[in-house]
Amino acid sequence: MDSIDTRTLQQLDAAHHLHPFNDNAALARRGTRILVRGEGCYVWDAEGNKLLDAFAGLWCVNIGYGRRELGEAARRQMDRLAYYNTFFHCTTEPTVHLATKLAELCPGDLDHAFFTNSGSEANDTILRLVRHFWAVQDKPEKSIFIGRHNGYHGSTVAGASLGGMKGMHKQGGLPIPGIVHIDPPYWFGDGGDLSEEEYGRVCAKRLEDKILELGPDRVAAFIGEPIMGAIGVYIPPRNYWQEVERICRRYDVLLVADEVICGFGRTGRWFASEYYGFQPDVMTLAKGITSGYIPLGAVMFNDRVAEVLATKGGELAHGYTYSGHPVCAAVALENIRILEQERIVDRAGEEIAPYLAERWRALGEHPLVGEARIAGMVGALELVPAKPKREFFPDRGRVGQLCRDIALRNGLILRATNDTMLLSPPLVLEREQVDELAEKAWKSLDMTARELGMAVG
Ligand SMILES: *Cc1c(COP(=O)(O)O)cnc(C)c1O
Repeated sequence: MDSIDTRTLQQLDAAHHLHPFNDNAALARRGTRILVRGEGCYVWDAEGNKLLDAFAGLWCVNIGYGRRELGEAARRQMDRLAYYNTFFHCTTEPTVHLATKLAELCPGDLDHAFFTNSGSEANDTILRLVRHFWAVQDKPEKSIFIGRHNGYHGSTVAGASLGGMKGMHKQGGLPIPGIVHIDPPYWFGDGGDLSEEEYGRVCAKRLEDKILELGPDRVAAFIGEPIMGAIGVYIPPRNYWQEVERICRRYDVLLVADEVICGFGRTGRWFASEYYGFQPDVMTLAKGITSGYIPLGAVMFNDRVAEVLATKGGELAHGYTYSGHPVCAAVALENIRILEQERIVDRAGEEIAPYLAERWRALGEHPLVGEARIAGMVGALELVPAKPKREFFPDRGRVGQLCRDIALRNGLILRATNDTMLLSPPLVLEREQVDELAEKAWKSLDMTARELGMAVG
């Protein structure tokens, strides 16, 4: 594709395509980046640039790009039976197999799947079905969801309301009633002088205080991302989730883990609830479930919730045309088969993550980096104006974007949220690619610092 073609495509894109999470006027001026090909941990753009994708698309391409087996699985299922619904007492073979496989993989008694097309829809499903779960047990007033400020649970009305992004709430009159938020654990911004363990307890206590303020009889569930992704990879203290679990049990509040990013190996374990050692009652899945090759989401319910929904719930007045789509299920099964057979999750956790952590933490020595944090295959760098203080740049977001653009010119894709650089590479990252990533990241930090007029070595 030559550059004239690219420009034409960019003009057509600006004329006819409204992009999500973009300033579309700015985008039109600048021109969209058009990606054309992917292989392993690399993607190529229309200008022929080869980029190391240290963000796995959007936290999702866990098995890496270019695995033909997934396309072949889709093709086989399309040829055999391209579509059938799961309403009206029907299902298809791959859908049954996928539900069974997810029950086997997910921790504890999370053995019952409800299928959706996305993480957002899965969280909408949770809001409705969890409220229904309490209502059919004569507790209709036990309906409030507690989420967290700056959490991300998707972009639909319920998803964005469960999330705690102020900018999202401002558009469209959110949050909807019956959803409240508490502060999340964010040690870099909020931890003060507390030890990790003390801070973990303080943050969990925010949940207990909120439950008591509202009254336990009115609280249906607590929802959280085990590691908060979109806001900037907030990695909680080790004890936080076990404390949260203890509090939820104490007040009979359902614990919902949104594992859309963390699930399918991101932490080096299959699920972050295993990484942190807690047992959710309900789990949200999407992204890595198909490594992004095709859209699919799922809610996993435990025995208690599923049994009430099945025996007392009556007809569930909820579902999507494509719930349990056979082609998506076939692709998910093939993705999971590859993750298992090639030991991709174990290998990432045991062999690559420790080395990645070593190289990533070393970036913390750069004058521009106030903190380098990482858990398994997901991490962040906090860019700061001066060390060693934990401090933010005054015009938040400018330096992060600058660093992201410079990294891109250096052939490295990192995401920026505010002035936090985010890392979430494909799980198939090799040792040499860790080196490449670390070298390109350091070089990009140097160039960013120089552009800001900071003294660097
Ligand atoms: C991406 C994401 C979602 C939303 O998933 P979509 O497939 O984009 O609807 C929900 N929760 C978390 C934690 C996410 O990162």
